[in-house]
Amino acid sequence: MIQPLFMVGARGAGKTTVGKALARALDYRFTDTDLYMQQHTGLSVADVVAREGWIGFRQRETQALQAVSAPQTVIATGGGAILAPENRAFMRATGLVIYLRAPAGTLAHRLEEYPQDAQRPTLTGKPIAEEMVEVLAAREALYQEAAHYVLDATASPDEIVADILRRVQGELVR
Ligand code: ADP
Ligand code: MG
Repeated sequence: MIQPLFMVGARGAGKTTVGKALARALDYRFTDTDLYMQQHTGLSVADVVAREGWIGFRQRETQALQAVSAPQTVIATGGGAILAPENRAFMRATGLVIYLRAPAGTLAHRLEEYPQDAQRPTLTGKPIAEEMVEVLAAREALYQEAAHYVLDATASPDEIVADILRRVQGELVR
């Protein structure tokens, strides 16, 4: 089995950063559903949301998730990809799902420190720290439900990659 690995978690959890490092360590390809959508529509996440609303964005996200899913690939998903039951079922059935879990304060701190990596428009219009508390409260159970593995995303990227490798060992390349 050489299933795809799906990285899930909130904005700022490190899905892109850790996903890329994990792909290097496994010699897998890396794709990012947000980037895939940008390349295929020529629009940023913010543009799609402005034109089609979050509902249109979520529909495109489901298509993107299925399009990029391939063996030997690490896939960084959007923070809200787990909202759709269809996406959760698809990821669990076709791959291994890794939840990068971090407290709201850590996420807010990272997004404030590196706003260029945040990419997405605010979901609620509230200050980022407050928004992260709400987003996690609404989604924690869904991240947990989707995940095969829950990782402490406050560790360094190298430590998280090592932790993932230990845990998926035996599941991959049989
Ligand atoms: P996501 O793709 O989940 O939104 P990113 O990988 O873009 O998150 O990371 C968001 C920001 O946090 C980036 O600036 C990144 O460098 C930083 N970051 C990611 N993971 C970690 C980590 N484990 N420790 C410290 N900073 C991190
Ligand atoms: Mg990302």
